[in-house]
Amino acid sequence: MTTTKPKVAFYWCASCGGCEEAIVDLNAALLNVAEAVEIVLWPVALDFKYHHIEAMKENEIAVSFINGAIRTDEQAHVSELLREKSGLVVAFGSCSHMGGIPGLANLTSRGEIMNRSYHDSPTVENAASLEPSLTSNALGVDVTLPAFWAQVHTLDQVIDVDYYLPGCPPMPDGIADAVNAILTGELPEKGAVLASDKALCDSCERRKTKDPRKRISKIYRPHQIQADPNVCFLEQGIICCGPATRGGCNEACINGNMPCTGCYGPPSGVTDQGAKLLAAISSLFDAKTKDESVALAEQITDPAGTFYRYAVPASTLAMKVTKE
Ligand code: SF4
Ligand code: SF4
Ligand code: SF4
Repeated sequence: MTTTKPKVAFYWCASCGGCEEAIVDLNAALLNVAEAVEIVLWPVALDFKYHHIEAMKENEIAVSFINGAIRTDEQAHVSELLREKSGLVVAFGSCSHMGGIPGLANLTSRGEIMNRSYHDSPTVENAASLEPSLTSNALGVDVTLPAFWAQVHTLDQVIDVDYYLPGCPPMPDGIADAVNAILTGELPEKGAVLASDKALCDSCERRKTKDPRKRISKIYRPHQIQADPNVCFLEQGIICCGPATRGGCNEACINGNMPCTGCYGPPSGVTDQGAKLLAAISSLFDAKTKDESVALAEQITDPAGTFYRYAVPASTLAMKVTKE
């Protein structure tokens, strides 16, 4: 008997696996999804092969959810294959949407990554000074590895993307809403990010405590101070990315008394999340001179990881900071 259920694929690229966990976190709703669709690819959970996808017709898959950033030939190849076979492609999670945590690697070079991983790290023993090569022969069998690109890319820098499901990882409610919208055809305009288009501060309860006259005179990392759970983090001198981050996560981190680190990306109209955040925070500095501003800015440990934690490849810095 042939099935008429829409076919759905899940795929992971440069990913930590957290986005796959988020799908499992749908709990009972996952059973409803599994009932409503036919899953044709999900490498983390089911043993489908690439040749099963290659044998499909164009657009035979209703929707492919692709998480993780793109850094290897294999990730690009499978993304291109899924694009060809899918009516819709959804960039799932911060890594696919903006480059995410793997995208921070664009602040260093491929050569430096290889040195650290295979030579310099204190836990590495590599007396023969070996590094992975694209081709090798093991016990008489030729083995080929996918090429490791010089830079990390967002999914839409490699293939055409229809929708973006933001978050590191996306919240289960958002995933369930997106799947339901796709199954019922109630979709917004192509290219939409499937979350609120307002800044997180708009829905955060702590915005009510914001005193517009209050200025930041000292910057703390979250572990250096016991944060008051009822007061805006910025007023306490703790960097919170709420002013430059899209809402839709139900203030997950804020409710756990941790500041937002920006995983939902910027609202539309903001092209560079880090630059927007930098402008918002520096305007709160209690500094009258350039030297006072510099002294406060120097208290921010890891500025790139603070302002661009999830968004280096999608930012204006994207490709300007790397070398081979
Ligand atoms: S978005 Fe976050 S949870 Fe998902 S793969 Fe990337 S790092 Fe992991
Ligand atoms: S800066 Fe952070 S804590 Fe303050 S209102 Fe915005 S999201 Fe809430
Ligand atoms: S509070 Fe910020 S970092 Fe935390 S889940 Fe929401 S958008 Fe992501």
